[in-house]
Parts: sequence; structure tokens; C-alpha cells
Amino acid sequence: MGIIKTKNVVYEYIRRDEDGNVEGITKAVDDVNLDINQGDFIAILGHNGSGKSTLAKHLNAILNPTEGTVWVDGMDTNDESQLWNIRQTAGMVFQNPDNQIIGQVVEEDVGFGPENIGVPTKEIWERVEESLRAVGMYQFRKHSPNKLSGGQKQRVSIAGVLAMHPKCIVLDEPTAMLDPNGRKEVIRAIRGLNDVEGVTVILITHYMEEIIHADKVFVMDQGKIAMEGTPREIFSQVEKLKNLRLDVPQITLLAYELQKKGILLPDGILTIKEFIQALHL
Ligand code: ADP
Ligand code: MG
Repeated sequence: MGIIKTKNVVYEYIRRDEDGNVEGITKAVDDVNLDINQGDFIAILGHNGSGKSTLAKHLNAILNPTEGTVWVDGMDTNDESQLWNIRQTAGMVFQNPDNQIIGQVVEEDVGFGPENIGVPTKEIWERVEESLRAVGMYQFRKHSPNKLSGGQKQRVSIAGVLAMHPKCIVLDEPTAMLDPNGRKEVIRAIRGLNDVEGVTVILITHYMEEIIHADKVFVMDQGKIAMEGTPREIFSQVEKLKNLRLDVPQITLLAYELQKKGILLPDGILTIKEFIQALHL
């Protein structure tokens, strides 16, 4: 079994009126099966309302499935006695860094998590240092988080999760509120966690450019997994992505349009470098 496994997971939001009568049901996750290996970089794509956040919240027991089962490192998320182990194994990073930072000083903020779980003081400082270095924020350790840019704040919140020594980090649109520079910094930090630290990464995004380094991509639509494959396999299916209301990277789209005009190019070109090589320029 992988680090994260879901079997036939369904989640329904139930709306009730003042008297408690059911007014309506939204099936936000609909029969999702995932099996994610330790060390993988997984991307989850999908337009707004496709169920990404609802699914993500199942991966560290913020939500429990209406039907089906979720296992985190073999622990069933319905098993309340494992709640803290589950949350420590799979950390979450959300969209808005302002809601995730609570410390007055960067290093203090990063130390909160380990302190809460009773890590000895000396080890807390080791963890804080290594986590801040991993996201390239060590030189800001004495700064006030309020004065940091969005990308820097988000890297501090990632360091906070990293300091818990999770096996897996789930990031729900961590770059959605950032400018292009901040997005790049954060994506670079996330790739480092995966490549250097070996942390399993589950990155939810709607920026196509952010997923080209993923080992595997899942595309969600109406709560279901509509496509799965490597980035190249996914980006080879331009029409299908358009039908799922997703954009493809500009360079992939350009190559696709040229192909349609009869220019011989391989499917699923992901980078400008590949494009230039394919054209023998
Ligand atoms: P995504 O993250 O892909 O935008 P969500 O998981 O947030 O998708 O939402 C999936 C569906 O569930 C949408 O139809 C959304 O309106 C609905 N939904 C999300 N959160 C709630 C909630 N707290 N109560 C009721 N419906 C919700
Ligand atoms: Mg969402």
C-alpha cells in the first residue's frame, strides 16, 4: 500500500434548513481511487468546484468520507485514535499564507508545530533551522512574518509543516494568491522538498506550468478523476483538457496548433527547450 490510498471515496455536503431538514446534497467527491507512493510528486488539477479541496481535506482527516476509505501510511482516517499520527504524517498547506502564520518572528512560527507535539527544545531549533534552509528562508529567521512578501510567507508556512517531519505534504493551491515571482519561489521550494528531502508532495493547482515536473497528474471533474497520467500523457490530450475547462501551457498549445497545420512535432511538448529541439532549431 502507498503512503496515501483511497478506495471508492465519496463525500457529500448536506445542506439543511433551520429545522434540520435536508435541502440539498452536493456530491463533491465521487468514487475516487488513489494510490500514491512514498516520494512521489503528484499534481491534482481541475477547474473551480471540481472537488480538489474536498478531496485534499480527506488526506489528513480534516474530512472523513461519506463512503469509502482513506489510508494515510496505512492508517484509516476514520480511526480517531490515529488522528494525531495521521496529521503528523500528512501536513497541509493552504492557499492563504496570512491565515497560517501565527508567530511574531519567523523562527518562532516554524517552531510552533514541533513544540505542540512535545519535541525537546534542542531538537525544535534543529528542525526550525533545517526547515527554513530547505525553503530558502533561513536568512529571514529573525524577521517579522508581516513584513514578508506573499511568496516568502508561503515558504514559511511550508517550513512550519516541514518542521513536523511529515512523510507527505498536501498543498491546496499554495500559489493562487501569489505574484509570478512568488509562485516560482514556492514551486522551487516544493520541488526541493521532494527531490532533496524525499517528501511525498501532493500539489493542487490550476497553473499548468507548475505540474510539468510531477511524476503523475490527476485531473478532477465533477468530483471524479477524469484523467490520470504523466504530465506528457495529460498534455498530449489538448482537446480533452479544453473540454474539462483547463488551459494547457502556451508552448504545448503552440506545438499542438502547429501539428494541426501539418508540422511534424511529437505530442505533449512541455517546455520551450523541447519545442526548439523538436524543430531542430
Ligand atoms: P475545488 O477545490 O476544486 O474548487 P471544492 O472541493 O471546493 O472544489 O468544491 C467541490 C463542490 O463542493 C463544489 O460544488 C462546492 O460548491 C461544494 N462545496 C465545497 N465546500 C462546501 C461546503 N462547505 N458546503 C457545501 N458545499 C461545498
Ligand atoms: Mg479548492
